[in-house]
Amino acid sequence: MAGCAELINSGRSSSGDLLPDVEAVQSFADRYLFYGAPAGPADLTRLRSHRARLDQVARACEAGDIGSAIDALNELLARTGASPQIASHDGRGPHLHVSRNDAPIANRMAAHFAMGLAWLVVAGQASRIRTCESPTCDEVFVDMSRNRSRRYCDSKTCGNRLHVAAYRARKQAATS
Ligand SMILES: [Zn+2]
Ligand SMILES: [Zn+2]
Repeated sequence: MAGCAELINSGRSSSGDLLPDVEAVQSFADRYLFYGAPAGPADLTRLRSHRARLDQVARACEAGDIGSAIDALNELLARTGASPQIASHDGRGPHLHVSRNDAPIANRMAAHFAMGLAWLVVAGQASRIRTCESPTCDEVFVDMSRNRSRRYCDSKTCGNRLHVAAYRARKQAATS
């Protein structure tokens, strides 16, 4: 689910769209090992549109609006032309692909991520999809902790930054 969160977060960044061009789409695909036809300009448009939909799903899950999440996921699966099949390549044993190999790379990635979210939703795990609680961060993450207690996108940065801020505030209150 890391790729899905990263894709959604690329559109939530306060420092602008982190998916600015076709090269960014290709490097994202490479990083998450999506093979196939190279990304083209249409993939940038497609992926941004799919990303907005995935973000909508994440927000619906977080709000507990499972009906809306399901509607958006079904639409996304249809729009990306998801077509499940069993593949075997690069020395890997048989495994499931959500899309045909010749489908546009943006559609293949979005279909794959939509399927991941769909599994969470049908397993009653939608509440694991959350937004970071840091006041300075809007990143989505999937909480895979056993008791669903995670509050920050990355406890090493966001959780810690808050800790430091609280510490400084206490210190300042004590000396003034
Ligand atoms: Zn494969
Ligand atoms: Zn955060």
